[in-house]
Amino acid sequence: MRCDTALIWFRRDLRVADNAALYHALKCSRRVYCVFVFDRAILDALPSRTDRRVEFIHASLLELDAALRRHGGALIVQHGHAVKDIPAMAHALKVDAVFANHDYEPAATARDADVARQLKVHGIAFHTVKDQVLFEKDEILTGNGTFYSVFTPYKNAVLKKLDAFYLQAYPVEKYLGALAPGQATASGATRATRATAAVPAGHAPSAIAIPSLEQLGFARTNLAHLGIAAGETGAQKLFRDFKQRMAGYEERRNFPAVKGPSYLSVHLRFGTISIRSLAREAWKAWHGAADFAGGRGAEVWLAELIWRDFYFHILHHNPHVVERAFKPQWDAIRWDTGAQADQHFAAWCEGRTGYPLVDAAMRQLNQTGYMHNRLRMVTASFLTKDLGIDWRRGERYFAGQLIDFDLSANNGGWQWAASTGCDAQPWFRIFNPVMQSEKFDAEGKFIRRYVPVLAALSNKAIHAPWLAKGDALKRANVLLGEHYPLPIVDHAAARANTLARFGAVTGRTTRAP
Ligand code: FAD
Repeated sequence: MRCDTALIWFRRDLRVADNAALYHALKCSRRVYCVFVFDRAILDALPSRTDRRVEFIHASLLELDAALRRHGGALIVQHGHAVKDIPAMAHALKVDAVFANHDYEPAATARDADVARQLKVHGIAFHTVKDQVLFEKDEILTGNGTFYSVFTPYKNAVLKKLDAFYLQAYPVEKYLGALAPGQATASGATRATRATAAVPAGHAPSAIAIPSLEQLGFARTNLAHLGIAAGETGAQKLFRDFKQRMAGYEERRNFPAVKGPSYLSVHLRFGTISIRSLAREAWKAWHGAADFAGGRGAEVWLAELIWRDFYFHILHHNPHVVERAFKPQWDAIRWDTGAQADQHFAAWCEGRTGYPLVDAAMRQLNQTGYMHNRLRMVTASFLTKDLGIDWRRGERYFAGQLIDFDLSANNGGWQWAASTGCDAQPWFRIFNPVMQSEKFDAEGKFIRRYVPVLAALSNKAIHAPWLAKGDALKRANVLLGEHYPLPIVDHAAARANTLARFGAVTGRTTRAP
């Protein structure tokens, strides 16, 4: 494939380094324009005008634009509707082809099909390539040619296939000379600006400068206060820090008060770091070939990156999971509804269930947009199996709050916890929120950080304050029901209800096997 002029459409791949679509566009073309669209189809539907993700994207785009400018290019940033703007801009810029990286979410694939159809009308090609996963679509299949629904054999198949070829970086740097300036520069409007300014009408102002957050209709969040750095530099800084901790990942990753995981999920979500580069480093560290220690920690971390691929694999082959249970049998579950379920749901969202670890986790989510993996499992289990509320309600709430929200991983995580998914937690295995707390936050450090009203309780009492002996509550200045809620459900009774709820579907009695 060769073309004179091309357009690269950035979406969830906001970086220059090792970007597959950028590489292909630059390698095949004499001149490449770069564009990102703040898509109103997505932004207008967001419930809040202070959204950490929008700010993260915005900051990442400023950095991407600066990086492109260092090599003679620039980023055209539109605020509109990608489905209309991309074909219009491609036509206006007289490009031969538009390049983009694959997106696997059903709404995005429908959008891309629409864009491809319109480009074709103008005689413009639409080339899309794999970038955000190690393996996609049908690259990893069982011996029968079907998709994998169990993680371990999937992981084994991935590890068998993963080699230097799949892990190598695209040498984008070699071809950056083909970048075309796409915006007004200090010296005045460029050819691309004039072209986009001419058509489509009304788009000229946003093509000239990157719109500010305020112009996009959004306000600043606490991202800076949280110390979350966007862009490729933010991702690289986090990864440099994590490399020194990778060897201890297995021992440390389950304890929310400890700096165990990488915190790279938001960067993987928006593509400010390449999955190939991370997997390559983990793979090398696991095999003792990196300049930092890895060992078992690196092996386990690589497996987490493969979980991410796995859920993309599941979504691609089972788009019905967006609306329904992976296993259709579980669509028959009768979840609780009505006024009491609504009150319970509100208490869960706001972190006032009376179970300290659950509440601390939900407050972490609300205050930071991040939640530790162990706690995502605990809170999802609590919503579905202690409160008997449909996993889809929790999934939607997480989708609105998580800075790293990714449809495939979020849906996979929720269906795992609710036991409706592939390779899920068996339905009769129900997390005890107090025992999880005693095990994974034994000293109550995490609880104290997010539920400070309980801070003076002992390490024993803090996990279940309603069981505190003698005058422990009084000494800690905690009045249950006033300063902190009493438990909204009794775990033992809730557990029995859940066994009955699932048992009714399987035809079993309420007894767990
Ligand atoms: P690390 O432990 O450093 O792991 C490295 C990377 O591996 C992560 O950044 C992520 O990309 C991937 N990964 C790790 N665990 C998983 C997993 N179980 N499934 C898929 N990928 C994984 N992850 C998201 O990226 N977006 C979501 O919307 C999301 N929602 C979740 C909802 C529930 C109910 C559950 C149980 C899990 C969810 N996860 C989600 C997976 C996991 O909790 C996060 O990826 C992880 O906590 C992010 O922190 P980290 O980057 O420090 O992870």
